[in-house]
Amino acid sequence: MLTDLTIAAARDGLRAKEFSAVDLTMAHLHAIEALNPRLNAFITVSHARAVDQARAADVALAAGEQRALTGIPLAIKDLFCTEGVRTTAGSKILAPFVPPYESTVTANLLRDGAVFLGKANLDEFAMGSSNMTSAYGPVENPWKRRQDDTAVLVPGGSSGGSAAAVSARLAMGATGTDTGGSIRQPASFCGLVGVKPTYGRCSRWGVVAFASSLDHPGPFARTVQDSAILLGSMAGHDPKDSTSAALAVPDFEAACRRGVKGLRIGIPREYRSDGMPVEIDALWQQGIGWLRAAGAEIVDVSLPHTRYGLATYYIVAPAEASSNLARYDGVRFGAREKGLDLRDLYERTRAEGFGAEVRRRILIGTYVLSAGYYDAYYLRAQKIRALILKDFTDAFGKVDALLAPTAPSAAFAQGENMDDPIQMYLNDLFTVPANLAGVPAASVPAGLDANGLPLGLQVIGKPFDEETVFAVSAAIEQAASFTALPSLRAGG
Ligand code: GLN
Repeated sequence: MLTDLTIAAARDGLRAKEFSAVDLTMAHLHAIEALNPRLNAFITVSHARAVDQARAADVALAAGEQRALTGIPLAIKDLFCTEGVRTTAGSKILAPFVPPYESTVTANLLRDGAVFLGKANLDEFAMGSSNMTSAYGPVENPWKRRQDDTAVLVPGGSSGGSAAAVSARLAMGATGTDTGGSIRQPASFCGLVGVKPTYGRCSRWGVVAFASSLDHPGPFARTVQDSAILLGSMAGHDPKDSTSAALAVPDFEAACRRGVKGLRIGIPREYRSDGMPVEIDALWQQGIGWLRAAGAEIVDVSLPHTRYGLATYYIVAPAEASSNLARYDGVRFGAREKGLDLRDLYERTRAEGFGAEVRRRILIGTYVLSAGYYDAYYLRAQKIRALILKDFTDAFGKVDALLAPTAPSAAFAQGENMDDPIQMYLNDLFTVPANLAGVPAASVPAGLDANGLPLGLQVIGKPFDEETVFAVSAAIEQAASFTALPSLRAGG
């Protein structure tokens, strides 16, 4: 099946003329037709555009052009602005928004010949861990519990549509964004590789902003090598984003073959709590064993401020969100409600356009930034953020990378964790520290829980050393030889 190929294999097949880019794109469009009504992984399918791009790819291939992604069909998280294609951010307020420009990351992918199948579902404005906050309905995780295949599981969030699409073979890879775990946690829930690069490695220009100092674009794929190919195309300096790093993009694909011999891998002791589920701990221990067997040295390290990570994140992220989302006033972007006067128009537009979780974040954010509370909350959170970064800097004085679990559980069912927002926020326990510190981190599928659901291990690296993250991730991938498949997939 063409939909089962990795990006690396499809690239070779296209170059060898074993099949055409149109064949490959059509196979994915048919899979979307068959499965998307159930999975709801795409908000928008850009069928005609995808076929046009595939035809252009075939012309390029016939001319012997060798770009990194010529003819490779991808899903784009609906948070990336795509010129002429509706971009909703999972929100009602942006339902009518058709961007007149292309985000830098998606422009880079198009430059390299990629085909865009459509825009993937997500939690509203990327706020969530389950894709349940999307105004366009929940996404179904293509994986099923062994004992109970009737339960509808969440794909994780916020990039739930991207993860479900790649897992179910509706796309060969996808873009995501990770503000507190939104690439790594859905990757873990859907048995995929997800990479959050260093802050500044991928441009944020044209990505709908959630929390600007925490937002990281990155790739989803089914293998470590494929995620390296995608990141290699997405990354690069962009003068339009002042936080974009003026650094050359390394050969991430080559880094996957480096091995881990002689690397020092740190095991952060604060990530182990008394409440850690046995399965998650067992997988972590197994990962440690694999890396040791592959020639790495395992070192115990301490990240003492880890326990403040979630509290810090849930102050800084809503604060920035409340400021970023002020632009949705019904005047400049998207939907507009009628009002008696300007203020009434603002209020009605925002009350009608934003969902409950987004409103909660705006309220928290404006509260922690308000005159009487700024010092008590926002300023303190910023200070703790600096200490969390210092923890990583200290640890990386001793080790080359860190190994930890990605999420505290496997995929949960739709409706679970919904009554209590704190319970939902706990999902981000192991992922938010890397966002607060801006360091690169990946999730790699490493095993299954007792229900047959995928679990990921997380590799965290030094700033701008994604190469080591890829090397360690590839070693885990090789040792884990994860071959399990989701129940719902193209041709499955
Ligand atoms: N789950 C986290 C949140 O709700 C992270 C979301 C993200 O990374 N975009 O904020």
